[in-house]
Amino acid sequence: MKQINKYIDSVFYSQDDTLEEVLNSIKENGMRSISVSPSTGKLLTLLVSMSGAKNVLEIGALGGYSGICLARGLDRSGTLTSLELMESYAELANTNLSKAGFGSQVSYLTGPALQSLEQLVSDNRQFDFFFIDADKENYENYLNYCIRLAENGALIVCDNVLARGTVADESAEPERHTEFMKKFNETVANHPQLESVLIPIGDGLTISKVKK
Ligand code: SAM
Repeated sequence: MKQINKYIDSVFYSQDDTLEEVLNSIKENGMRSISVSPSTGKLLTLLVSMSGAKNVLEIGALGGYSGICLARGLDRSGTLTSLELMESYAELANTNLSKAGFGSQVSYLTGPALQSLEQLVSDNRQFDFFFIDADKENYENYLNYCIRLAENGALIVCDNVLARGTVADESAEPERHTEFMKKFNETVANHPQLESVLIPIGDGLTISKVKK
């Protein structure tokens, strides 16, 4: 899988100064380099633009790499709402989105995402595209909130669902979240309100369409 991803990134990745700067800013601020892969980012841009999404909700901002990729798929009237636990991460992401020209389209809610999601439900907010990329233990809770906040036909995309391939390899040393991801993938695959596929790009993405 590592080799295939390396190959995909080597053929399809082209120099992107904006995203390179985001990666540098993450390192300079002593944060972990755990942004989505270049190909995953490209796929996010394409999915947002192909679906014609207008209001995107992201869970897990880090330094704004995936945020920029999502925002690139929106037209100028589209919005990105991003949930992030760490105030300083959200500030960096906001700075990076502003530098990339999306400052007026993005807003950040800081604190535990479950609290922000509850707030969005009480505010009767609705979204047509979701990207889940935060603490893996809460993926199932996040999925349930996203379904509640979704317009009919919305897309929900979740990252890291292959847990570096360990969900499929019994002989591999399991990751901390391997078991969560196995259970999560089964939930997504069998959910009565979702039509889903898993794509082995980056660390694995599920893409689901919500039926309401
Ligand atoms: N999506 C980002 C990107 O590709 O640019 C990477 C996100 S990183 C893998 C996960 C992020 O989720 C971190 O910034 C972390 O602080 C945030 N996070 C972890 N637990 C959280 C929680 N309970 N609520 C909100 N955000 C959380």
